[in-house]
Amino acid sequence: MKNKEINGMRLEELKEYMSELGEQAFRGEQVFNFFHANRGVNIEDANTLSKKLREKIIKESNINKIKIYKKYESKIDNTKKYLFQLEDENIIESVLMEYKHGRSVCISTQVGCKMGCSFCASTKGGLIRDLTTAEMLNQVYEIERDINSEISNIVLMGSGEPLDNYEETLNFIKIITDEKGHNLSMRNITLSTCGVVPMIDKLAEEELSITLAISLHSAFDEKRQEIMPIAKKYSIDELIQACRRYVEKTGRRITFEYTLIEGVNDSVEDAEKLSELFKGLNMHLNLIPLNPIKEYNGEVASIRNIEKFKKILDNKNIRTTIRREMGQDISASCGQLRRSVLGDN
Ligand code: SAH
Repeated sequence: MKNKEINGMRLEELKEYMSELGEQAFRGEQVFNFFHANRGVNIEDANTLSKKLREKIIKESNINKIKIYKKYESKIDNTKKYLFQLEDENIIESVLMEYKHGRSVCISTQVGCKMGCSFCASTKGGLIRDLTTAEMLNQVYEIERDINSEISNIVLMGSGEPLDNYEETLNFIKIITDEKGHNLSMRNITLSTCGVVPMIDKLAEEELSITLAISLHSAFDEKRQEIMPIAKKYSIDELIQACRRYVEKTGRRITFEYTLIEGVNDSVEDAEKLSELFKGLNMHLNLIPLNPIKEYNGEVASIRNIEKFKKILDNKNIRTTIRREMGQDISASCGQLRRSVLGDN
């Protein structure tokens, strides 16, 4: 029965699947190894398996493949943006960023997004579909193959809302951190959400040592509702309560993302209100200058204002970093490139 992609199955699932095919379960581990430890693509190359078994797997199973559709390299900072074509011809994007401490890949979790944040390009065409576990893994593996090197960090901050594709995202995290697979440290994974409160509680129950990032963008309900539709569903108070529960349950510090938009959320009152929200919470704040998109007429806040904003938070002992913009010359912000390639429909 061809259904679930075998390169998106967890080790236990794959062992079970091999038993269903009438094979010994340990073959599942060999297949897992092939895809995730060796980053194999074509099962024909899995020489720990007999030729007969390889043929059987090809006949019986689904194996996901994605291919590089286009690649852009920033001349400013070495950032690379990849557009991948999926088997159904949908296009998604991923970004590779080089830092002093290693390489980080930003991957997509959905084709498009239904969350509707006003300043975000990914959501402008709505949600097309969820990505499968294998499609998420393959973004990482294809980039590693392309640069012929391993990446050290993953951020789930590309197109899509990871908590709106919960099961596949969780499977992705479990597989990429499996010590028999890629063996990436959980601590090197960041999952970013616009704030789907019940799912934050659900995630807390998993007690993973990943970093949870919350896209906040305003400390005032009314303002947040104007730029983020999800805020109409869950108040900031409910969101922060969930964050407190999350920190308590997992012992992990939470990151907040705050995109500064001139005249919208960059005032002294905004900064002061923010600092109040964070009282007593183990957190870190990232200030991100808006990356202007043509579908939103907000302007990037001035450097002077961003620094002033940070100073207010510094004075209240809120740990704050101004994130540097990367890959500006290649539209490296969430969903921009995919849209410019697809056109506006
Ligand atoms: N849906 C998730 C993850 C994807 S968006 C989330 O909302 O967190 C990743 C981050 O990029 C979010 O903080 C989002 O608000 C931010 N972002 C989106 N478009 C942006 C833009 N044009 N300029 C700056 N940040 C942007």
